[in-house]
Amino acid sequence: MTTIGVLALQGAVREHIRSVEASGAKAIEIKRTEQLEHIDGLILPGGESTTMRRLIDSYGFFTALQEFGKKGKPIFGTCAGLILMASKIEGQDHAHLSLMNMKVARNAFGRQVASFEQELAIKHVADDFNAVFIRAPYVVEAGAEVEVLATHQDRIVAAKQGHYLCTAFHPELTDDNRFVEYFVKMVEQSVETLAS
Ligand code: GLN
Repeated sequence: MTTIGVLALQGAVREHIRSVEASGAKAIEIKRTEQLEHIDGLILPGGESTTMRRLIDSYGFFTALQEFGKKGKPIFGTCAGLILMASKIEGQDHAHLSLMNMKVARNAFGRQVASFEQELAIKHVADDFNAVFIRAPYVVEAGAEVEVLATHQDRIVAAKQGHYLCTAFHPELTDDNRFVEYFVKMVEQSVETLAS
């Protein structure tokens, strides 16, 4: 069975475990780098990106996560996870994992509307996906190799670059598993490709 890990240093871990299991894959919490050897794909959950980065460094995950991606194994970042994947962060000198060629803005939808729900059309996934945004970032600029999957108010809120996937919203917080199912399919395909 396809096994997907959820980085479990901080943030919305349990919800992702539930949605991966509901999407037909096995889900495990990842707390040590050695566990990365036993999974086919990884989710970087929402939470607080600077806190998560600090924990990634103190648990020795930084290079391990980049190496995981270099092997061609899929990684899906939601919200703070999207920030971790970006190659540039607006107003900051340094980015984090730099897996996707894109610049992001943090807390980008403003304080008044810090959290909201919005129905979105998401390429490859659904025309009517109810997306939950919580102090969400968005993608300000994306390189040519980045496929835009969804926008809200002309801002990119879901994107894919090869085996990397990200959303500004939280698909794990509703019972609509279609987005997570899309990631599970990406992981299943990569298992086949990497084995052949
Ligand atoms: N605002 C958070 C950050 O900058 C992300 C919010 C979230 O993951 N829900 O890390």
